[in-house]
Amino acid sequence: MPELHEHVERIYAEVARRNPGEDEFHQAVFEVLHSLSPVVSKHPEYVDSAVIRRLCEPERQIIFRVPWVDDDGNVQINRGFRVEFNSALGPFKGGLRFHPSVNLGIVKFLGFEQIFKNSLTGMPIGGGKGGSDFDPKGRSESEVMRFCQSFMTELYRHLGEYTDVPAGDIGVGTREIGYLFGQYKRITNRYESGTLTGKGLTWGGSQVRTEATGYGTVYFLNEMLRAGRQSFEGKQVVVSGSGNVAIYAIQKIHQLGGTVVACSDSGGYVRDQTGIDVELLKEVKEARRGRVSDYAILRGDEATFVEHGRVWEVPCDIAVPCATQNELDEDDALRLAKSGCRIVVEGANMPCTPKAVKVFSESGVLFAPGKAVNAGGVATSALEMQQNASRDSWTFQETEVRLAEIMSRIHERCLTTADQYDRPGDYVSGANIAGFIQVADAMLALGVI
Ligand code: NDP
Repeated sequence: MPELHEHVERIYAEVARRNPGEDEFHQAVFEVLHSLSPVVSKHPEYVDSAVIRRLCEPERQIIFRVPWVDDDGNVQINRGFRVEFNSALGPFKGGLRFHPSVNLGIVKFLGFEQIFKNSLTGMPIGGGKGGSDFDPKGRSESEVMRFCQSFMTELYRHLGEYTDVPAGDIGVGTREIGYLFGQYKRITNRYESGTLTGKGLTWGGSQVRTEATGYGTVYFLNEMLRAGRQSFEGKQVVVSGSGNVAIYAIQKIHQLGGTVVACSDSGGYVRDQTGIDVELLKEVKEARRGRVSDYAILRGDEATFVEHGRVWEVPCDIAVPCATQNELDEDDALRLAKSGCRIVVEGANMPCTPKAVKVFSESGVLFAPGKAVNAGGVATSALEMQQNASRDSWTFQETEVRLAEIMSRIHERCLTTADQYDRPGDYVSGANIAGFIQVADAMLALGVI
């Protein structure tokens, strides 16, 4: 056993050496490998066939220039990325992120996470991720459109419903997917709906896809509460972010009886003790593309805006980080635990630092990782692909029932697997091991490719 653990350690050292400077990627790999020691002890075949080493190396990495002309006639150059990480279970599947912080290491961390997340859904989708350092904030509609067209002019040759199927992520919503799909259709002369997900409802999109990640996060949380014989009734919740995931998480928490008392964006947080008015938040963020500070002004006396404040200062029973990676650190975790927070679930990808996760485990705060919790988004994307393939379209209710069932199955799978590997109640080990085994077995079956 110690030598097998050493095997995993050696792989991590190799990943760090071969991918210098990609801190987020190292962090994501470490987090998964850390859980795999008991698996390699039980299954030497994964060592013999170098499955874990192969998993840590993307199948293909594409980096490209994205030139476009801004409204003042200046040529702008951005960098585009698509990391096709693993296609053992199905076509590469994962979102595109447009944000100035995007670089190869971030796209690789997201792509790596996506492999296990997609595997956990039980659906036939591999893992990938992409994006650009383009910042849509403050850009006009026509600038965003020209950027998307240029991005797709290069990327289209790598995509296809059986090859690679992108979706949205930070900075990429239905508007951007529309421009990307329009350009794909124009270049290929084919209406291949199954090539992109997150499409609008009138042109091949699925009901519930917009709501799916936030709703799915809350369905998972609800399963955790039920497993502990609790409910949302009377619970105060803090949600970070105010984008796609955050908005629909807030909406579903309210529908199930909890109260979200604060949310945020990169400018600060808003506290609203009677509960965030989700319709107003949607109006501000989706329709006006405004800030949570605007929400506070429109809401009046009920709400307080704390400029540059950390949302984790607000006491709560449950915390749901839904903004971005490493947004909740050790100090935040200590503060949350001290103020009585008992559950933390990751709506975003890797929002809690490793030290924060350690604090949760040491202080008895129940914690569940993003790759399980937020898998409802990609699962509903897979439902969108199913509907596109059969030229069908399901009702909101029918689709939401499927989403809830998928989240319940993922929750069950995490707990059962954690039990099997002697880590009862450990959602991190359960998610990593269950996600890993399914991909690893497929890789073994497909041979060394
Ligand atoms: P959006 O772009 O819709 O919203 C992101 C939100 O996070 C905004 O409120 C943004 O504020 C805030 N934010 C971003 N960066 C920072 C930062 N550095 N500090 C503070 N706040 C920040 O993105 P999504 O809601 O789609 O994605 C949120 C998270 O969920 C990401 O980690 C994403 O990878 C993950 N996710 C998304 C899925 C989806 O279906 N959309 C699926 C699975 C995971 P501001 O406007 O000020 O930048």
